[in-house]
Amino acid sequence: MTVARFAPSPTGYLHIGGLRTALFSWLWAKKMGGKFLLRIEDTDMARNSQEALVAIIEAFEWVGMDYDGEVIYQSQRFDIYNQYIVRLLEESKAYKCYMSKEELDALRESQMKAGERPRYDGKYRDFDGTPPLGVEPVIRIKAPQEGRIIFRDGVKGEIDIAADEVDDFVIARADGSPTYNFVVAIDDALMGVTDVIRGDDHLYNTPKQIVVYNALGFALPNFYHVAMINNEQGKKLSKRDGATDVMEYQKLGYLPEALLNFLVRLGWSYGDQEIFSVEELQTIFEPKSLSKSSSNYNLDKLLWLNAHYIKNKTNAELAQLLHPFGIDIREHDERELLLDATKERGKTLVELAEQIMMILKAPESYDEKAVKKGFKADSKETLLDFITMLEGWDKALHLPCDYHNVLEHFVATKEIGFGKIGQPLRIALLGSMTGSSLDEIMAIIGTKETADRVKRAIALL
Ligand code: GLU
Repeated sequence: MTVARFAPSPTGYLHIGGLRTALFSWLWAKKMGGKFLLRIEDTDMARNSQEALVAIIEAFEWVGMDYDGEVIYQSQRFDIYNQYIVRLLEESKAYKCYMSKEELDALRESQMKAGERPRYDGKYRDFDGTPPLGVEPVIRIKAPQEGRIIFRDGVKGEIDIAADEVDDFVIARADGSPTYNFVVAIDDALMGVTDVIRGDDHLYNTPKQIVVYNALGFALPNFYHVAMINNEQGKKLSKRDGATDVMEYQKLGYLPEALLNFLVRLGWSYGDQEIFSVEELQTIFEPKSLSKSSSNYNLDKLLWLNAHYIKNKTNAELAQLLHPFGIDIREHDERELLLDATKERGKTLVELAEQIMMILKAPESYDEKAVKKGFKADSKETLLDFITMLEGWDKALHLPCDYHNVLEHFVATKEIGFGKIGQPLRIALLGSMTGSSLDEIMAIIGTKETADRVKRAIALL
């Protein structure tokens, strides 16, 4: 059975690159009918943050990614890691290293001076003398000194390095805490992880982890190292490029399905298809179609997708979604009309909320440019005449088409162009030249509110 996992270190918020890696793993597990584990890599006690942990769990919840079993915490598994350290020491596959920090620094410096790559020199590998006093040892694993470490990466192809490129790295620190490359291998093996999908910043950790797998006789999983997401200019994505924290996207009014659709296409493709539901992805995603090269973040694409998903929500769903954005129209009489008139006008829930507010709330001010352009000397009189016709209309006015009829009748009777009433009316109702269609707006706010707004504009302008 396919077992995939996401293994974040809770040292900062969950960024979109992390979410994308998690998504790839999750989709692959789903597609294979396998399992997906969420394992928190919190062995570095000094750098862990509770806030980061909460943000990860929250992000998973928001986007609707589930995991099998409970969340696993490496910090609760130290006993297990210790057993393996003891075993490796007993089997003489690992050893205590007493090199002090000063000694290590000096070694590194002299190697750098000699133009060599800094690496541990194996001083304590076969040491059987009396250990120096006052140094708490670290534990190092014996890495092979000859041969090659070769593995097939599902994205990058064959990776083949000289074994001696991997030095005897530390598997447990002086305080006894185990290190990342050690515990990740132990956990992936013990948890039966078959497919490791992660960022390619880990590509050169994999040979180290293979040393651990081999020392303990564990079978290797499949590895897939996913290329990074760059910014629009092709440079490393940073905070400066806007939101990178997943939960920030929620606040900015993105729908989780849009974000997931956006992320899956960064580094993965399926013909030239752009729109994917999560359900569909769960049946077609294959890590072998992951791209070798990095992909560029593209805000316009994200906005386009978000607009698509907003447009395709039911009005009842949208009313719920808008609630956290300060719009409560769940019980509004004209909810359907209001959302039909606006839902194609907002690329985010924030924009949609603004569009709705603009209709529901009488304008507090009037856009100067719009007034100059659309509110002419004779506009007040035209507006007054229109209101008179509206209030005296002998048929019930409910639907946009009812108001449309009045508008049509008005311009025909007055023998004026539509702009003569359209522009000042729009300014009076919304305070600006933009927004939904006038008949829709009037149908939503009703005749009385229409007349009130017009009278206010006449008095103020
Ligand atoms: N804890 C590692 C990180 O957050 C994940 C490594 C992995 O997936 O193996 O980068």
